[in-house]
Amino acid sequence: MTEPTADRDVDVEVLVIGAGVVGIYALYRARAEGFSALALEAGQGIGGVWYWNRYPAARFDSESYAYGYIHDKELFEEWRWEEEFATQPEIERYLNFVVDHYDLRPSISTGQRVVSAVYDEADNVWKVRTEQGREIRARWVISATGGLSVPHYPEIEGLDEFRGEAHHTGAWPHEPVDFTGKRVAIIGNGPSGAQILPAIVGTVARVDLYQRTPTWTTPLNNAPLGDDKLQWLSDNWDDVVTTLSTSPSGFLHELSGKFSSDHTPEERQEFFERMWNAPGFGKLTMNYFDMTTNRELNLEFCAFLADKVRSIVQDPETAERLIPKDHLFGAKRPPFVTGYYEAFNRPNASLISLKETPIVRVDATGIETTAGHRDYDIIVYATGFDFGTGALTRMGVRGKNGLDLSTDWEEGPSDFGGFSAHDLPNFFFPGGPHGAGGGNYPRYSQLQTDWILDTLVHARDHGYTVFEPTEEQEQTWMDMVADLAPKSIFSAEHSHYYGANVQGKPRKFLLNPGGRAKLVEILDELTATEDYGGALTGARELAEEHS
Ligand code: NAP
Repeated sequence: MTEPTADRDVDVEVLVIGAGVVGIYALYRARAEGFSALALEAGQGIGGVWYWNRYPAARFDSESYAYGYIHDKELFEEWRWEEEFATQPEIERYLNFVVDHYDLRPSISTGQRVVSAVYDEADNVWKVRTEQGREIRARWVISATGGLSVPHYPEIEGLDEFRGEAHHTGAWPHEPVDFTGKRVAIIGNGPSGAQILPAIVGTVARVDLYQRTPTWTTPLNNAPLGDDKLQWLSDNWDDVVTTLSTSPSGFLHELSGKFSSDHTPEERQEFFERMWNAPGFGKLTMNYFDMTTNRELNLEFCAFLADKVRSIVQDPETAERLIPKDHLFGAKRPPFVTGYYEAFNRPNASLISLKETPIVRVDATGIETTAGHRDYDIIVYATGFDFGTGALTRMGVRGKNGLDLSTDWEEGPSDFGGFSAHDLPNFFFPGGPHGAGGGNYPRYSQLQTDWILDTLVHARDHGYTVFEPTEEQEQTWMDMVADLAPKSIFSAEHSHYYGANVQGKPRKFLLNPGGRAKLVEILDELTATEDYGGALTGARELAEEHS
């Protein structure tokens, strides 16, 4: 269904692409502000990554109430999260609840994959086409297509020859995958691979985890969400929202208030033990203030973590293989998973180190490494995503002056604020490259989405019809990214935050290294003038020129 629009030159004023966490919010805000709006979603259901990533034990590793929507206390109170860290089925139910709560379903068209989005400069209109044949003319496009939405398959010979079941965690089938008594390979040990291993180890005949680079995996420390906690959140809602909306990480975690020098070596060991037992990302956010800047301290914490691995994993060789040697804690996004190391104590679980015995090829019956061939019934590709730019460069986006996003970003993305770009007028991509800083993604993308919708309202109120960051504004933002990237805590260059997991992708930092503070500072500079420093133009200006 397309709503009636006041703007007769277009089918909808605001076209949202993607009905995941960000797209649902963008659609809600667009409708709440009185724009005609429609969302196109490639999946048959809503939820974005939480629709596609339905592998066993997929769950939040940000606290449910910190990750969920926080703009509406009533919404929060009408939904009851069951656990501190919710599972995928609960998350998918929640997102469907939100859609129905705001009556958004009639404005979402599922099963529509956008394959072309072309800007018509003469009419200031985006013409968007889907693979399924829909064509929409929109004044504004908000591409909420996510940073982790295009599955990345490893570049291994023979992938298509395998005759068993093969599934990527990011494109998991809707029909249940039966692991009972099966021989299973999991390739990849990031957050997805680490979550799935303990979930299936109890039911499979055997499972081999193929590890290229060890990670600093620590326990999630999940718990049921009790009434007391929910009441506390409700009673303190305004403060909760302020902390989630302004803290650098976007979490509620209580800071330690300590530098490592405040403690003796013995006290530090006790403190590290508390960190081991801290929830999820708390091991980063609640740690010593100097954990990510003091190399000696970080090495001391890594030694503590390595001892934890040795104390859990009974086979000393497996334990050593599981301990990272090439990066400090936090330099690469760490997985937070319950029971990961314990899984390797099962007689039916093995770790295969690809550093020692690389994969030669996949064939009809299994996987061949330099150590020999192993047969499998199921191969799980937990090999991550084409992060940041993957979806945007595959949608046929064409802007002004011949800009073709797929070629323009070949050497890495250039953007403003992680959600817009010069030569892409009226095209926004909250949660895009340079969108999130370290921390809780939805809090970053909410900030961006709110800013975008506030801008559309401002443009409507003041007669502007075009938003396009100037070249200088984009350059200022990109200079900030270049300056601060080396100082980011996620500094390990061999991670997907640098695009390093995808062969041939340029190694460019893809997060916002300045965090929310920098983003707010730069956006505030823009909004200090009515025309956002020249980024807003359009009808009124043309009218003035002609008068
Ligand atoms: P990931 O962190 O990118 O991990 C991919 C894994 O696959 C890595 O271990 C990687 O090894 C391995 N790999 C990639 N290509 C390979 C190849 N050719 N041969 C062998 N191994 C290969 O992907 P992910 O685990 O799906 O997580 C991605 C992101 O999704 C996370 O950072 C997080 O933001 C999000 N996520 C969140 C949750 C949650 O909220 N709980 C759960 C899952 C995912 P190398 O390290 O050597 O590249």
